[in-house]
Amino acid sequence: MKKKESSILNLCIGACITAMAFILFENCKVDVKNNPISKNIQKVEKLFGFVKAEHHFDTYNLGFDQNLGELLLNQGISWDSIVKLDDISSDIFSIRKFRAKKPFTLVREDECDAPVCVVYEPNKLTYVKYFVKDEVKVDVVKKDFDLVEESASGIIETSLWDAMVKSGLDIDIIDKMEDALASSVDFWHVEQGDEFKLVFERKYIDGKAVANGEILAAAYKDSRGEHHAVFFENEKYAGFYDLKGNPTRSTFLRSPLKNSRISSGFNLRRFHPIKKRRIPHYGTDYAAPQGTPIFSVADGVIERASFTRNNGYYVKIRHDNIHQTQYLHMKKFAPGIKKGVRVKQGQVIGQVGMTGLATGPHVCFRFWKHGKQVNHRRLNFPPKDPLPEEQMPEFLAQRDILISKLNSVYFPSEEQLIMGPALSEITTETNLPYEE
Ligand SMILES: [Zn+2]
Repeated sequence: MKKKESSILNLCIGACITAMAFILFENCKVDVKNNPISKNIQKVEKLFGFVKAEHHFDTYNLGFDQNLGELLLNQGISWDSIVKLDDISSDIFSIRKFRAKKPFTLVREDECDAPVCVVYEPNKLTYVKYFVKDEVKVDVVKKDFDLVEESASGIIETSLWDAMVKSGLDIDIIDKMEDALASSVDFWHVEQGDEFKLVFERKYIDGKAVANGEILAAAYKDSRGEHHAVFFENEKYAGFYDLKGNPTRSTFLRSPLKNSRISSGFNLRRFHPIKKRRIPHYGTDYAAPQGTPIFSVADGVIERASFTRNNGYYVKIRHDNIHQTQYLHMKKFAPGIKKGVRVKQGQVIGQVGMTGLATGPHVCFRFWKHGKQVNHRRLNFPPKDPLPEEQMPEFLAQRDILISKLNSVYFPSEEQLIMGPALSEITTETNLPYEE
């Protein structure tokens, strides 16, 4: 218990407004307590699912240097409930995940009593309710939003980023466009005068843009010509195709070995068996006997075929402007595998071993996207082949609608911007009563 308590007290998140809130809590008048609640409310207005007229809401922004346990304690929540909450929330949405600068709201039934619920808003689309009065429990709620189709365009003067921002676009739309066009456009070498157009979705709550949705169509014009990506969804895959129905993204094999067993998955909280401490595992381990052939999961160019103390013999391959893969602990490389060599999907690049930091023969497979290691088993890879014949009429119909939408998008000129303010500007706006 002692250990648990001190660990909660050590949560360095908290808010700098505790003192102020505490005074408010202390000063409230007792006579409000027994106010009868009007039963004749016609339209029941709710906030976070609580009837507005029957509850009191105090919203705070978390600051950097205070701990949450202390803060809740100061608000009249019992230590027992806080410990229980810490425990129960850990599998759902841990109170330890509260982040500075994110709003949370204390909900009271009575102005003078302890809160019945703490509501945390990790993003504009979700809130998490921590009930602390009778039964301690956690409820994650996804808000309803309106999906609105929008368009944007830009001409590159300095960088793609500048052009996007000038067009009122958010950084994650840049990523999505790069993703959609990854195999046809070289986004590492964009040039002045390149043009892009997009049709995409935005999520709105109460008329305010809160997040970007998916790109529906993208066109990019560079010195090599015009490239298109059109969104289409069938039972196997939801993603991008070119105008002829070929997937625009390169595809990847699900695993670098045949008939292998996953011995350890991608896990950011893994306990390391050799180092005996918590070290994130940025790869997926496939166990197989020594000497089992390892193949490249996609076409690409070998960036590295070398040795380090931890990785042992390993190979790293670049597949396109976004994706790289890496294969660790090899026994040896296949003949001819060295830096700069082109490989095909399915080509053998080495053999399973246990060189470097490994307890048994396996390949630690790592998948890099935009220079960051991600869990490839969560990614949605396109099929290798074009759309089947019988789906073409449906695809072509959708393609034509989307392309005509793209064609009706104008390029921004100095006077006339197609879009409103950047999403980042919209979402930083805040109406919180207390701010540091
Ligand atoms: Zn591994």
